[in-house]
Amino acid sequence: MKLGCLLDMDGVIYRGSEVIPGAAEFIRFLTEASIPYLLLTNNSAPTPLDILVKLRKFGVETTVEHIYTSGMATAEWIVRQKPTATAYVIGESGLLTALNDAGIAVTRDHPDYVIVGEGRTLNFEMLEIAHRAIDAGAGFLSTNADTWCPTDAGPRPGCGAIAALLESATGRQAYHVGKPNPFMFRAARKKLGLATDEVLMVGDTMETDIRGATDLGFKNILVLTEEPQRIKRKSPFRNGLLFITGAFWVGLVESIARLVPENGSNPEAILGLIDSLKNSMSAAN
Ligand SMILES: [Mg+2]
Repeated sequence: MKLGCLLDMDGVIYRGSEVIPGAAEFIRFLTEASIPYLLLTNNSAPTPLDILVKLRKFGVETTVEHIYTSGMATAEWIVRQKPTATAYVIGESGLLTALNDAGIAVTRDHPDYVIVGEGRTLNFEMLEIAHRAIDAGAGFLSTNADTWCPTDAGPRPGCGAIAALLESATGRQAYHVGKPNPFMFRAARKKLGLATDEVLMVGDTMETDIRGATDLGFKNILVLTEEPQRIKRKSPFRNGLLFITGAFWVGLVESIARLVPENGSNPEAILGLIDSLKNSMSAAN
């Protein structure tokens, strides 16, 4: 059986400015075993190159081709709707570069879309332009619904919170393209050229990573980087956290380090590991 991996980055590969133990080893295993993979993030602020530099600093060896952001997914989504679209953007270089690469021009003059992305570039003039463009009929997108972002200094308001401000002002709802929107998961799967049952999603957030992957029928592994009680308190899936049913299941490991096979780079090793996780969960149920 073929297998490919989609890996969330923040909380799985790194947390803030620290790499998570086992992450570099797991990526090395995927490379040596020729298992296709993509590293996903809902953070549309950095470009893939920015992320690559950060990963290399952490000792994670990969390439820009393995990085897929919600900014890139948003650009792809617009191209499928209207390839000649223009957009007004509240966001940073990751989103702006993705739009430029996709041929979407950025303008404040009658844009087809208003796009809110992740980042720290925001002032009242930008909100006014966005508000008036949405009022005038522009499509209202956000790269992701995350209302806050973890930073080394503590949480800060996220893209979803800025979108919520404009939603409140305009009375219009934003369409969030990033996780858990199935669009981003499906686009990632297609990039790997895999079928649904050949995809393993590894994430640390039930509401985005596991929810979206479950909706699409991917195999899932939740890593408990996030404090487990918080997951139990917040997740609508809490009663079904440990379940195996039909085409999909949710696995649970304490860290990505648990996924690094002990016996070398044999691609079967990860499948064996998945089987053992499934068996241990069956026993637990
Ligand atoms: Mg995460």
